[in-house]
Amino acid sequence: MSAEVQCPAGCGLMNYKTKRNLKIRVFDPLGYAMMICGIPFIAAPDNLPFEFFTSNLIVNGGIGVGLLLLGARRASLVTTDLRCNTCNGVILESKSIDQKLKGDLLGLSENKAEYIRTALSSSTEESEYACPDCGEKMRHIRVPIEDGEHRSNPIAPDIVEDIQNLTTVSRTVEIDGCKGCDMLWFKKAKWEKLLSKDSTIILKTWI
Ligand SMILES: [Zn+2]
Ligand SMILES: [Zn+2]
Repeated sequence: MSAEVQCPAGCGLMNYKTKRNLKIRVFDPLGYAMMICGIPFIAAPDNLPFEFFTSNLIVNGGIGVGLLLLGARRASLVTTDLRCNTCNGVILESKSIDQKLKGDLLGLSENKAEYIRTALSSSTEESEYACPDCGEKMRHIRVPIEDGEHRSNPIAPDIVEDIQNLTTVSRTVEIDGCKGCDMLWFKKAKWEKLLSKDSTIILKTWI
């Protein structure tokens, strides 16, 4: 893609913005090591498995939380995506699509990038927007997702009284995209954020 990209909605030039995505995990050995090291400090601050210079529980707990948060920050994804300051739309290019739209580790849900690319190539619904790169009309797709943040807490399901919290929230995210240029256009930035989260999945359909 060229360096200058016009907003598909006709607002003018879009800007590249680098953002840390705290809800998307990436493989970062040091980050995970920090998180693991933080656990004994939080779980048993008075009974650490090694000699430590202080036995102050609050200090130890604080170190644990600090390690956990720093580790989680390190092991989160940083991407640079195109954003429109006027209409708040977002464009994801090839690299970001692969980095942000993954499946779960066990492969129980769809790989989001793969699902969307397949849906785009089979979609016959023309988007109201033209691709800012090649000028062709984009395709429009609707992606069914499950938002896992509303799922029940697996550790303590019995104390959840509100029955609605026990079910996943199913939603649809609307995306326009250009298959040839491998880019996706989200009219609303919140749809991109929702779809990218690790806890958001696309259920596999077993035929
Ligand atoms: Zn715009
Ligand atoms: Zn295109």
